[in-house]
Order: sequence, then structure tokens, then C-alpha cells
Amino acid sequence: MKFILTKELGRLAKWLRILGFDTVYYNQDNLSSLIIQALRDERIILTRNQHLPQARGLKIVLIKNEKIKKQVAEILQTLKLKPEPEMMFSRCILCNTELVYITKDEVKDKVPEYVFNTHEDFITCPQCNRIYWRGTHWGNVRKTLEEVKWNS
Ligand SMILES: [Zn+2]
Repeated sequence: MKFILTKELGRLAKWLRILGFDTVYYNQDNLSSLIIQALRDERIILTRNQHLPQARGLKIVLIKNEKIKKQVAEILQTLKLKPEPEMMFSRCILCNTELVYITKDEVKDKVPEYVFNTHEDFITCPQCNRIYWRGTHWGNVRKTLEEVKWNS
């Protein structure tokens, strides 16, 4: 299942990427080009815009909640999605590219020293070169997911 999100849903786009879903964040006003991209790539449009034009074959999910945690819960419930733990952190939060493992030697001098000294597993984005590790934000994600009861 692939998504394209309209520009008011930037935080939700990051969350869907954290959960491992292929998510395009469409940060522009040109709605006809949004619709063309959705149809071409078979992406579900997630939006809070009630005036999005309908088109044949288009799937639009209107997000009702304003708060991010409720939005995550809403989309998981509406589409009956169950994110798999092994899918999480498999995509770059910034650019949606699939992440790859990188050796500890390769991240030396590219991450803060305390991070280098306290972590063994690093992953990186081949597109934007951002480096990720299972640090505090990993724990925060799990905690938030428990709060939105994604597993129930
Ligand atoms: Zn990236």
C-alpha cells in the first residue's frame, strides 16, 4: 500500500515512513499534478482537504483528526493496517528512500562521538546520506505506537 499526502499532513508523512510505508509528501498546491501522480503510481491520497476533485480510479482518504497521534491511529484503523516491527525504520524519514546497513567504521566522524561509542548498528539513506541508529527516538516511536494501540 502506497501513499501520497497533501501538504498539511507533513508530520503524518514522516510517521508513515517510520512505520515503513512508501509515502510521498506532496508539498505543493497544484492538485491536478497530485492526482496524476497518485493515479500513475497507484497511491492512496491522504488529505484533510475536503474539496479535492474526484477522478475515476482515485482513492482518497479524508483524515478527520488534527492531532498527529490521532491521525496515525485513524489511518491505521480506516485502512486496517498493521505495521510490522521489522518494517519500521526501513525508509528515510526525510526522502522516503529505502535504508541500507552501514558498517560502524563508515560512520566514524559522521555521528556524534557518544552515539558512536554507545551504538553498534547503523543504517543510512543512499539518497540523502542521513545516518540512523536505534537511539532514543526508536524508544519514543514504540511508546507512541503503544499509545495509539496500533496492535489491537
Ligand atoms: Zn533520505
